Amino acid sequence: MNIILFGPPASGKGTQAKRLVEQGFTHLSTGDMLRAERERGTDLGKTVAEIMDTGGLVSDDIVIRLIEQEISKNPQGSFVFDGFPRTVAQAKALQAMMTSHGVFIDLVIRLDVDIDRLLSERVIARGRSDDNPKSFKKRLNQYIAETTPVAEFYRTKLASVPGMYPIEIVSKEIDKAIKIVRERD
Ligand code: ADP
Repeated sequence: MNIILFGPPASGKGTQAKRLVEQGFTHLSTGDMLRAERERGTDLGKTVAEIMDTGGLVSDDIVIRLIEQEISKNPQGSFVFDGFPRTVAQAKALQAMMTSHGVFIDLVIRLDVDIDRLLSERVIARGRSDDNPKSFKKRLNQYIAETTPVAEFYRTKLASVPGMYPIEIVSKEIDKAIKIVRERD
């Protein structure tokens, strides 16, 4: 089973993805992969550093390549995608690569959150270098402009989960959505 966790920055995708790892999923976060490239000081890391810190989107080609590398290691694995796809072009590329391996996305879970509360309650607490209010606002606007259309692309697979509740409650709602799909298939 392959899942996409969908939602604005700081909506809790990473937190929930880590919990799904305990259930056997492989967590693929393009944000984590890009941060790892920066930490290693690779050419790619140097290329993306400024874009990330100012809240821009890294090019589709780069993130698609990163994801492709991971999927091709074990195409039949159960993946939970976090922060990818962020554009319709990325969603189409993901579909093409999965189809070529005979697998597909089963479920897209959207974490519905109160965007105004995110900035004040969550973002400052994380202390990440790209989490200053200016960069965060840009990422939020980018999400609305570039990423919201991705939900439409997956409309038949979309399940909405309320994301402003405590972590364990959100987790339970996600488990319910997964169970519905497992029992249906
Ligand atoms: P958040 O969900 O809080 O925005 P992420 O860890 O998902 O944080 O992403 C951090 C940054 O990495 C983004 O602001 C962007 O610059 C870059 N990035 C991550 N995933 C993608 C992607 N799929 N496409 C383009 N850029 C990405």
